[in-house]
Amino acid sequence: MKDLDSFPKVALGVFPTPVQKLENISKLLHRNVYVKRDDLTGLGLGGNKVRKLEFLLADAQKQGAEIVFTTGGAQSNHAMLTAAAAGKLGMKAVLVLKKRGVTECVGNQLLERLMGTDVRFVDTDDYADIYREMDRIGRETGRPYYKIPCGGSNALGTLGYVDCAREIAGQGIRFDHIVCAEGSGGTMAGLALGAKLFLPGTKVHGMMVDRDPFDRITPALMREAAALLEAPLEISPRDYHLRDMCGPGYAIASEAGNAAVSLLAEREGLFLDPVYTGKAFAGLLEMAEEGAFSEEENILFLHSGGAGGLFAIRMQGFGQGAL
Ligand SMILES: *Cc1c(COP(=O)(O)O)cnc(C)c1O
Repeated sequence: MKDLDSFPKVALGVFPTPVQKLENISKLLHRNVYVKRDDLTGLGLGGNKVRKLEFLLADAQKQGAEIVFTTGGAQSNHAMLTAAAAGKLGMKAVLVLKKRGVTECVGNQLLERLMGTDVRFVDTDDYADIYREMDRIGRETGRPYYKIPCGGSNALGTLGYVDCAREIAGQGIRFDHIVCAEGSGGTMAGLALGAKLFLPGTKVHGMMVDRDPFDRITPALMREAAALLEAPLEISPRDYHLRDMCGPGYAIASEAGNAAVSLLAEREGLFLDPVYTGKAFAGLLEMAEEGAFSEEENILFLHSGGAGGLFAIRMQGFGQGAL
């Protein structure tokens, strides 16, 4: 197997991120619940995409790209962080976003305005249209460009979370369960593959916040990332655990998710977001209720960020499922 450190990475963030015990939540649930603070990855307002971008933008640089394209919805945390990272590295980011979600100048749209990011909207539900538009713009500029898929979730981006699993293995606590949000798949796939490599016995649970076929996407990304690493591993359904926490739809707040956002804000001074981490933590609470964790087990929740999106919420809609 190849060494993870043999893949080029650009330094964008601050690692390792802290692991903290959620004392009040642990008391409430009679379980040992910890949080991995990937909301503090140290670029922009933090978040999981920084780990993926360290690998992806190193590849873009290696290929001599001057322009970096990526995509997502209007409030994509990934797109915002790609723009922040590209700016730091002296590359130009062009965000070709789906005209879906809150397009006004709030949340991540505001942050992009502050960075002077080139943001374009395409009124489509099909990413094929978006990638075609990227190629059109790219050709028009005549400059070398690099396309990053939605969420940075390809095999190379997934290595960011294989790396995170290795980091967790070095932080001194043995975890029986890791719980994370799953939106485009790279974070979950990386953690699940990384657990197989560095955290034997740890179960990784992906809380699905979108309606994509994650039962296919997750093992496919795990296999592609394992192939990059030349790791001779068999990936089976026992290696990843999925739970539907989407509620009314992607980027539409759910009652359970909003309740989790409030609970963590009130009891732990920790701010989750309604699109990803709130729904994911709601999944952890449901699992605890169902008896999925025993009292002596250690549970680690990955806080994957999302602060930008939190500020795009229409407060009058809070609790009513509107974003
Ligand atoms: C993108 C994102 C996720 C989901 O990660 P994927 O790798 O896309 O599945 C979770 N939380 C936040 C805050 C995100 O921005």
